[in-house]
Amino acid sequence: MKRVVVAIDGPAAAGKSTISKLVAKSLGFTYIDTGAMYRAFTSYVIDKGVDPKNEKECVKLIPEVDIVLYPDGKVMCSGKDVTRVIREQKVSSNVSYIASYKDIRLALVELQRKMAESQSVVMDGRDIGTYVLPNADVKIFMVASVKERADRRFKENMEKGIPCTYEEIVEDVEKRDRIDSSRAFAPLKPAEDSILLDTSLLSIEQVHAAVLKIIKDKVGEF
Ligand code: C5P
Repeated sequence: MKRVVVAIDGPAAAGKSTISKLVAKSLGFTYIDTGAMYRAFTSYVIDKGVDPKNEKECVKLIPEVDIVLYPDGKVMCSGKDVTRVIREQKVSSNVSYIASYKDIRLALVELQRKMAESQSVVMDGRDIGTYVLPNADVKIFMVASVKERADRRFKENMEKGIPCTYEEIVEDVEKRDRIDSSRAFAPLKPAEDSILLDTSLLSIEQVHAAVLKIIKDKVGEF
């Protein structure tokens, strides 16, 4: 069986992780949630009492941060289970600052590339097709309207019992899109050879099927 690499990028809460997980499961690939890594780093910064807007102090923490993603979705950061806390609003509202620091990105990208080295993967994020895995076999850029994305994220948080208001979610999604798209190093943007997929009017099942078809059409049998 040949190794297949699928990169899925797009703005906040466009459905990337839900779909990437389903696609990885359908194909027997490993799912790699790069957003969880930036979130884990952010939770570490907050725990240490460091200001996430202070690049110099945040970068100093790089040698202490050891992030491990488990196949069942568990996320460990320097010995602490952060699976739940990384989805909380205090992390969401600060993660884009952390993700804009080049040295932190370089450290996490190294880890991401290592994870994709020897296996078939579906990796989701903001810069996977453009920077992390530019030779990916399939690149998808997933978008949806801000309203659709905020509705979905709010519902998801309610189901998971993560406290937030709808207004906070809208503000967070817009703010992260703005910071992620305008940062100097590896910003959020579609790769030239990516396929644009607007999920606004599609159900999860429809997006899942559309992505599987894109992969089959691009890669053929594997
Ligand atoms: O994917 P998720 O929304 O969990 O990502 C959280 C944040 O991590 C994003 O808003 C972005 O700031 C950052 N991120 C990134 N590059 C990636 C993945 C996530 O900058 N590859």
